[in-house]
Amino acid sequence: MAIAANLGFPRIGAHRELKAAIEAYWKGETDAAALAATAADLRARHWTTQRAAGITVIPSNDFSLYDQMLDMTATLGAVPARFGPIGGEVSLTTYFAMARGAKGVPAMEMTKWFDTNYHFIVPEVSAGQSFRLASLKAVREFEEAKALGIHTRPVIIGPVTWLALAKSRTPGLAPLELLPAVLPVYRELLDRLAAAGADRVQVDEPILATDLGEFHRAAFWTAYDELANAAPKLMVATYFGALGPNLDVATKLPVDGLHVDLVRAPEQLEPVLAALAPGARLSLGVVDGRNVWRASLEAALAPVARAVAVLGTDRVEVAPSCSLLHVPFDTGLEKELDAEVHSWLAFAHQKLEEVAALTAAANGDRAAVALAFERSAVVAMARASSRRIHNAGVKARVAGVGADDLARRSPYATRAVVQDARLGLPILPTTTIGSFPQTAEVRRARADARKGRITAADYDAFLERETEACVRFQEAAGLDMLVHGEFERNDMVECFGEQLSGFAFTRHGWVQSYGSRCVKPPLIFGDVARPEPMTVRWSRFAQSLTDRPMKGMLTGPVTILQWSFVRDDQPRSVTCRQIALAIRDEVVDLEAAGLPAIQIDEPALREGLPLRRADWEAYLGWAVDAFRLSAAGVRDETQIHTHMCYSEFNDIMPAIARMDADVISIETSRSDMELLAAFSDFAYPNEIGPGVWDIHSPRVPDEEEIVGLLRKALAVIPAERLWVNPDCGLKTRGWAEAEAATRNMVAAARQLRATF
Ligand code: GLN
Ligand code: ZN
Repeated sequence: MAIAANLGFPRIGAHRELKAAIEAYWKGETDAAALAATAADLRARHWTTQRAAGITVIPSNDFSLYDQMLDMTATLGAVPARFGPIGGEVSLTTYFAMARGAKGVPAMEMTKWFDTNYHFIVPEVSAGQSFRLASLKAVREFEEAKALGIHTRPVIIGPVTWLALAKSRTPGLAPLELLPAVLPVYRELLDRLAAAGADRVQVDEPILATDLGEFHRAAFWTAYDELANAAPKLMVATYFGALGPNLDVATKLPVDGLHVDLVRAPEQLEPVLAALAPGARLSLGVVDGRNVWRASLEAALAPVARAVAVLGTDRVEVAPSCSLLHVPFDTGLEKELDAEVHSWLAFAHQKLEEVAALTAAANGDRAAVALAFERSAVVAMARASSRRIHNAGVKARVAGVGADDLARRSPYATRAVVQDARLGLPILPTTTIGSFPQTAEVRRARADARKGRITAADYDAFLERETEACVRFQEAAGLDMLVHGEFERNDMVECFGEQLSGFAFTRHGWVQSYGSRCVKPPLIFGDVARPEPMTVRWSRFAQSLTDRPMKGMLTGPVTILQWSFVRDDQPRSVTCRQIALAIRDEVVDLEAAGLPAIQIDEPALREGLPLRRADWEAYLGWAVDAFRLSAAGVRDETQIHTHMCYSEFNDIMPAIARMDADVISIETSRSDMELLAAFSDFAYPNEIGPGVWDIHSPRVPDEEEIVGLLRKALAVIPAERLWVNPDCGLKTRGWAEAEAATRNMVAAARQLRATF
């Protein structure tokens, strides 16, 4: 019989109960026992939910109080020395200190989990490090489920992925060299799980979906030759992409089974079937664990039926493509969502029902699930032809985009001259990235307006006062190019999505981003159009208050795409182009409203990069084109800015240059201006504002420190092309810090100007 399996379930709770419990614990409002009770209650509910949905292989240890990578780090006893010696098990205090830092002890680094918006805590390793089993969480959670009568398949992060993602603290040491040291701990953990009654364990090795060198591939042999001798049968889980050249390694591992992602890489079914070791089980990831749309069951059944034909039902498992951690909990909670859009959606709960229906069909019990298949077919047809999705005008406009639409009228050198004449800025002009502090008062006013506690007119008047005060502050501080402050915005994507057609918003569609932090991405379900101007009202108002140049402030098409759940019935590049056209209209309207500069933020451009290098060029092609399309509607004298808040530019420099923004502001202060080397090595031709003030920290840099950073910048960027600005927006800062740092920044720019 084919088996219905799940790889992981959202842990935060349908109503973010875990978030509330963890944050209350952090604040000292509750104790560890209360947190443990909430966590256990959620686990019990989630296991029961999965069983009720018809799932046979139910995961355990997919739960986490912060992050599954950090859990593995604790399990291996890999606690960096700065957190103090650990005796027995890693304590809850140490665990959270590793994640968030403690008094005087910096947290471990955090970075994105492959190409998701989930962030994991990066393991740190050093030469000669010893490992030991220092957390029995996996065993305890298995036993906890067992006590509830649910036999689970524990999930752990595999040794190669754990090490491949680790950061070396010893120069010259490749983390993977520590493989022989971690394997005995893995072995011991597997033995302990077996002793507790676990007969199967899921070992996540998503690193197999990335480009690996020989060293990594060889590590897989070493690791699994050793672990295959352990008592539990191992299911090695890969996801987020094709195995590609790693197919041979993955299919020949001496393990019981392999999970492959057939949503991201349906084409790998045949090669996997051909290469799979004799007798090995195959878990088919056929329900999309990364997106929110209902599956077409008929289409999803095809690869399952094919695998059954080749392997027989006994060697087949049906599963989501990856852990369901990356989708919201349950569409049943959405009571306010448009009914038609609602009918197209499947969140974690619904996806498990899809897995169960597919499994039944694979086992020849099609009659039992006829209704589910029929419903899926009806929905697929309705969605394909819905008037809510298809807008002929938008499609025609996208089809009509030509090369001319992607290019500014003149090259940068020409534009720079006319912009200079119009703006009359001093050398080393100062500006900010857009937002000013979102104080409790601002957030309260927004909530009051939304709940109808204050009138729209009162809220509008409040925003006018905030905006005006912000403009006056910037004038007094001596900034050269001003911003309106973004007080009217809740979130840099949501505020646009709410005004664009083709977008929908959920009430409970939360997805864990890191730790207790969740995001609620908009759903892009249909063709995107902009019925009306979105930001002109506030930008025009702000410009009307001052003679200094004001910068209009927009979120770019790639970032809007990247931070949403995107429709899966057309290529992402097409959806991105539609968004670009909507932003382009806004850019042109801002220009007409008299804004001499417009910033189009693209902080998510880099995170959209595909997992494999071979796919980068295609992505960067359409992504940069989308930015260009959004920006190129204006005259030469209108200055286009862009902003990106990250610091790895080396490998994408040509794409950054091709965006052809007149000015780009980037985050650099934390790297001590080091990354500017990428811009100078590449001979980046346009203007650059390297951040001189780390807005992630409450620390206020003094004038001399900023002068020092600017001197470093001047060593690689000519003064005529250098701007002075913070690393990012100031929305998370308090006014006191923002004021002090802004004044120091302006003073630093003036001090240096005097030397020219
Ligand atoms: N304009 C935005 C702000 O200042 C940019 C934020 C971002 O890039 N993350 O808040
Ligand atoms: Zn930023």
